[in-house]
Parts: sequence; structure tokens; C-alpha cells
Amino acid sequence: MTTYNPEKALLNARREFGEHGGVVPSISRSATFTVMHPGTMPEIFNGLKGPEQGGCFLYSRHFNPTVDVLARYLAAMEGTEAAVCTASGMSAISCTILQTCYSGDHIVASETIYGGTHALFESLLPQMNIKTTFVDITDIEAVKAAVTEKTKVIYTETMGNPTLKIADIPALAEIAREQGSKLVVDNTFSPLIFSPKILGADIVVYSLTKYINGASDLIAGAVCADKSFIHELMDLHTGRVMLLGPTMDPRVAFDVLQRIPHLPIRMREHSRRGAAMAKMLKEMGIRVVYPGLPDHPQYEKAKALANEGYGLGGILALDCGTREKAEELMDVLQNEESFGMIAVSLGYFDTLISCSGSSTSSEIKMEDQQKMGLSSGLLRIALGFTGDLDTRMAQMERAVKKVLGV
Ligand SMILES: *Cc1c(COP(=O)(O)O)cnc(C)c1O
Repeated sequence: MTTYNPEKALLNARREFGEHGGVVPSISRSATFTVMHPGTMPEIFNGLKGPEQGGCFLYSRHFNPTVDVLARYLAAMEGTEAAVCTASGMSAISCTILQTCYSGDHIVASETIYGGTHALFESLLPQMNIKTTFVDITDIEAVKAAVTEKTKVIYTETMGNPTLKIADIPALAEIAREQGSKLVVDNTFSPLIFSPKILGADIVVYSLTKYINGASDLIAGAVCADKSFIHELMDLHTGRVMLLGPTMDPRVAFDVLQRIPHLPIRMREHSRRGAAMAKMLKEMGIRVVYPGLPDHPQYEKAKALANEGYGLGGILALDCGTREKAEELMDVLQNEESFGMIAVSLGYFDTLISCSGSSTSSEIKMEDQQKMGLSSGLLRIALGFTGDLDTRMAQMERAVKKVLGV
């Protein structure tokens, strides 16, 4: 366990009042802002006078007061100097990569990453002459062997999608440091549970769409890093977030802000249910992957790297053998037991179930799927926390007995 307390860090940062002393922050919807003295405008454009330097806001693609509040809270939670919010997790990832890698550069990436990120690295970036070597990120020797003098980024998810491998962030950070590259970590599956920056990562990216928002009603992302990198992303003339323009709407920022205070409660409950459900399935003889089970290959590592008190998450992967069996189980879980919904995504208060190989990881070629241990019968269950746990356990038990005959 680490000694980092992300909840305390968040509490110290949460000091924003509404415009009239409101207990909720105000939504500042202005697209542009009045500059009181004409001489200030050039200074703002040259980055000399932002809101932090006693200047003012300029234009909401650059800085918006409401979006900025969310960015400050996320930075505090992650223990980074700064953060920038974006319109989606994918834009947070693509802007980060395009800011760090130019033509001729190289990336070493985990082979078990979100399908969209995999497609970005495998298909789009090579068109810009940026090449990626995919490796088993838990094989530190393989990572070392893949790094070249052109490697600018080592990229991983803390908890790999969908096989739930846990990355050894301190070891990866050391490789990155030695080589002079940046360790970029997608922590979407495990906010509060792991704090990648505290463990040595340079840049933490998020899809806020999942756990952090927690209501499956918006798409949003964020990049958390040191001030110099966030300023690079936001540079009016060269910043990738400025030039590609994935701007977060202040109303979206407000919605996420209102859900951050109960993120710790939600994460604890997701994890409590994840642990209980995984244990039950395991005891029934089902092949279940969950980082909190002692037979998970990185169980010890996960426990060592986690912050205390948040468990190890609410996502399980369940191997049903074949795609047909996986689909049958999904059908029973949704349509007979009302256990959850057949849908991609995760981090919702209701349970979402999907067959990874034919959905969120379908961008990954079949042979690569097999290589990374993604069987076509793998069901990803992103547990919610509605309904009482006993009822949910009974629903799952009945469904599994019926379909898998255990
Ligand atoms: C969903 C997801 C993304 C992409 O986020 P969007 O908000 O949908 O753009 C990236 N990484 C992981 C691990 C995800 O689960």
C-alpha cells in the first residue's frame, strides 16, 4: 500500500464557491472575456498574463473558469501540478501523444489497451511516421528490449483493458527516466485506487466518461501533468489542445464537478462488490479475472501499488469459453435477471456487460487479441452498485449455473 491519500489532497483543493457565495460552483458560459486595458491583450497572447498571473481569461477554448476549477481538482487528486480538461478521453490521449511525439519518433505501448487507443497507435500514428511497438507491459525485460533511442513515450493503462493486467508503474518510470522518454498512464479504470504520478508516471490521462463522472451521461477527458507540459498543451500558438480544439463545455465541467465529492464512496462500493462477486465466481469454479483475487498474476503488485482504502475496483473479466456462451450469459443477465445492461463502457452506477473481443477491443486484430490473452468468450462485467449485494450475488449465481452449468 502507498501512503498517498488522494481524498485528503482533493479535500484541500475543493474550495470553490459559487459567484454569490453559492455552495456549488457557478457555471461560467462566456465564450470570450473582456480585457479591461488594451495593452494586456498582447501579454495574454504571449502567455505572460493568464488568470494565474493576475491577468484575465481570454477565450474559452484556452481557459474557462468553470472548466479550470475541475482541472484544479483533478490535479490535486492526482498529485500533479496542473491539469487540462478535454472533450473526451480519446482527445486527452491523442493530444498528449501528438504533443510528445513527432515524425520519426517511437512509442512503446502495452498491448492490452483501450481499442480506440490501440487503433490510434496502430493505424493513425504510422501515417505521421510515428511507430509503436506493442509489448506485454508486465514483462519488464520486454519493455526494456523494445525501447530505442527514438522512444519518446512509454504508454500503458494502470489496469489493462480488458484483461486487467496491472502495470508496474515504478519499474516503467525508471526505464522511461533512463531513456529520457515520458511515461504516460491511462488511469481510467482505477481513479483513487492508483495514483500513477505518485508512483512515478510523468503524465496521467483520463476518460472522465467512466468512473469519475459515474453517471454515463456525458463524454469527457483530462490530462494531468506538471505545469510545463500542461502549458505546452495550452500554448495559444503551438499547443495541441489549442490547435486541435477538443474543448470541454463548462456545463459538462459543472456536472463532473458535482460528482467528484462522492467518487471515493462510489469507488469503495464498486470495489467491495467486485471483490465479493469475484470470490463467489471463483468458488463456483468459473475462470474469473480480478486483480483482488490471490491467483491474479499481479495480485501482490496491485496491493503494493494501491492507495489504502479503495479496494481493487469493480471490473471483472469472466471467461465463458466461447463467444456463444458469453452472449448467452449476457442475455440471461440482462433479460431474465435484470442484473445489468448489455452495453460498452464502465464506471456507471448500474452494471454494464460487454463481450470485449467483439466490441471495445474489436479494433484489435484477432491474432493480436489471442496474443494478449483476450479470448473470444471473455465477458467484461463493470459492476454498478444499485440493488443490494445479496440480490445481485443471487442473480449472478443463477445465471452462471444456468448458462455455464456449474
Ligand atoms: C473509454 C476509455 C477511453 C476513451 O474515452 P472516451 O471518453 O470515450 O473518449 C480511453 N481509455 C480507456 C481505458 C477507456 O475505458
